[in-house]
Amino acid sequence: MESELFAGIGMTSQRTRDRMMQRLQELGIRNFAVLDLMRSTPRHIFLDEALAQRAYEDSALPIGYQQTLSQPYIVARMTELLFQRGPRRRILEIGTGSGYQTAILARMPDVDHVFSIERIQPLQEKARQRLRLLKIYTVQLRLADGTFGWADKGPFDGILAAAAPKQVPPELITQLAEGGRLVMPVGEDGEQQLVVVDKTADGIETTIIEPVKFVPLLTGVMRK
Ligand code: SAH
Repeated sequence: MESELFAGIGMTSQRTRDRMMQRLQELGIRNFAVLDLMRSTPRHIFLDEALAQRAYEDSALPIGYQQTLSQPYIVARMTELLFQRGPRRRILEIGTGSGYQTAILARMPDVDHVFSIERIQPLQEKARQRLRLLKIYTVQLRLADGTFGWADKGPFDGILAAAAPKQVPPELITQLAEGGRLVMPVGEDGEQQLVVVDKTADGIETTIIEPVKFVPLLTGVMRK
């Protein structure tokens, strides 16, 4: 099935994907599982047809509703950071968007479940179809404001968000398991930082990684 998705399309050729891998390595991505998944997971099916030919460029691309599919480098970097200290069996994702990052998370080694929240219903529906197409059945999607996490399903070993709040929402830290790690962009437009929060027996440890550019974390839900 998956091989049919690539068939006959030059843009999905192995060479194009190898170039993307090479670029990710040049940018410092070292986790082999991440690199391997970035190569084997078709990014073009997460885009509308008109943009599919640009799927393997290292850039963010529009997915409608003023939202974007994150740049491959940032997807790889955030995934690598999330898994840096041990396995992450239960993961909470905020901002399903296209579902591409969701698919990568679900396919990482030792991941049992990904719980992913999106506030824009039409985006969520498309993501659901794509995940089904890839035969990924370990993901639960929810239409809600992810600011408050998903308390019923926690605690989570890993939390990853693709939209930036002004500060880390306290509910997300509460829903992090001991030994768990949260990776998300934080800050006002134009001065966001990628932040890692580790929850240990001794408390909370926050590390600032690098400047990033994400859409803002918004409140409320948008139904069709
Ligand atoms: N990882 C996604 C990124 C999409 S952009 C991808 O690569 O396709 C960020 C997403 O976060 C958007 O779809 C946006 O609608 C969503 N979002 C923003 N605020 C949110 C909130 N409070 N709760 C849930 N999702 C939110």
